[in-house]
Amino acid sequence: MINIPMGAFEPEKQCAGRNGCGRYLPLAAFASQTVGGQYGRQTMCRECSAATSRAWRERNPARVREGNAVRYATRSPEYRSWSAMKRRCLNPADVGYENYGGRGIWIDHAWTSFRSFLAWMGLRPAGTTLGRRDPNGHYVPGNVRWETRAEQAMGKRNTLWLETEKIRMPLLAWARHLNVSAAFLRNRKRLGWTDDETVSTPKGTRRPRKPDTQT
Ligand SMILES: [Zn+2]
Repeated sequence: MINIPMGAFEPEKQCAGRNGCGRYLPLAAFASQTVGGQYGRQTMCRECSAATSRAWRERNPARVREGNAVRYATRSPEYRSWSAMKRRCLNPADVGYENYGGRGIWIDHAWTSFRSFLAWMGLRPAGTTLGRRDPNGHYVPGNVRWETRAEQAMGKRNTLWLETEKIRMPLLAWARHLNVSAAFLRNRKRLGWTDDETVSTPKGTRRPRKPDTQT
């Protein structure tokens, strides 16, 4: 009988499966799958899954090369931006088409090739998206850049700007600055708050009373 100290009990599970080592290990030794996923937690411990997959990769080098190419191509941030751009502009079934292809926004012919798009744009810096300097312009070299959210908000056609005495910024930039959600600020505007009240009243505080102008 093992003496388990109070409070230190950890559920354990056996590493099972054809290639499992059979040890009882804490759950942390197993790679968890998506919560609620079809397989729950993996049956093999991380070590055994890694060894199994290593063995498979050694037996199938060609499949690995192929898989890497596909995985890189379709999961890279650049590829996803490129294909989303194509969908918006070229596919009438896409939800964004109305605002892009449908408005006559087109893509430089060379950029129908991912390779040349990537060559021009370079790698996408973290936290940026594909944007256009002129929001009514096309996806052509010179008008397209990797831009941050703030830059993106600046360029949007329907950006809501909030202005105080000292500063004028897009709503999204305010939200980030104040560390609140954009929806929170938008809601205040919807309720008729002035820009000043919207950005200078702390969250969770009532709208300041209007100074009494009547006598
Ligand atoms: Zn194992």
